Amino acid sequence: MTAANQELVERVTRLVVEALREHADPRRVLLGVSNRHVHLSLEDFRTLFGADAPTVKAHVVQHGEFAANEVVTLVGPKGMMDRVRVMGPCRSRSQVELSRTDCYALGIKAPVAQSGHLDDAAPITIIGPKGRVDLDHAAIIAARHVHLGPEDARRLGVKDQDLVSVRIEGDRAAVLDNVICRVKDNFTSEVHLDTDEANAVGVRSGDRVTILVDGIC
Ligand SMILES: [Zn+2]
Repeated sequence: MTAANQELVERVTRLVVEALREHADPRRVLLGVSNRHVHLSLEDFRTLFGADAPTVKAHVVQHGEFAANEVVTLVGPKGMMDRVRVMGPCRSRSQVELSRTDCYALGIKAPVAQSGHLDDAAPITIIGPKGRVDLDHAAIIAARHVHLGPEDARRLGVKDQDLVSVRIEGDRAAVLDNVICRVKDNFTSEVHLDTDEANAVGVRSGDRVTILVDGIC
């Protein structure tokens, strides 16, 4: 075997061992940082883009979800933000996910809320190339949460909507409480934080964090 091949074999072996180790312990979970983004209803997508569906720019970790090529402009009482990414596919209701910092810039008082819980969501205007929509209840600051498949949830001893704590390592090490468990068949285990939270504790997408539970099955 050449030295280059030898090195390749060693690298692949290391990756496989690492993957097996991660698989063995469901407490060690991938982290994803969510930048500001927009989910749109089909009706609102048609109004903004004059088309029937967002187009795929890049798939994300969660199965079936993707970052679209389409971007919009957000408008609030104090400012606007260009090139905000649309996420696909379309959902039953439009939803704008912002950080607290974004809310200050836009002049919007959005609540910390779980995705889809829009009763108290703040008003916001979205502008696309073909039109605009003024939404009464759409802007939220997404509550920190962890996506879990049923098997990992079972091994961790948690169920949908349970709250867990997550330990972050590194220079800005911290424990984040009140992380909502979201359990669904097609979910891949992944903790989601917004950019404010991620910057405060010094983590990036692709890092690993630890769910703090007493034991695993
Ligand atoms: Zn999420």
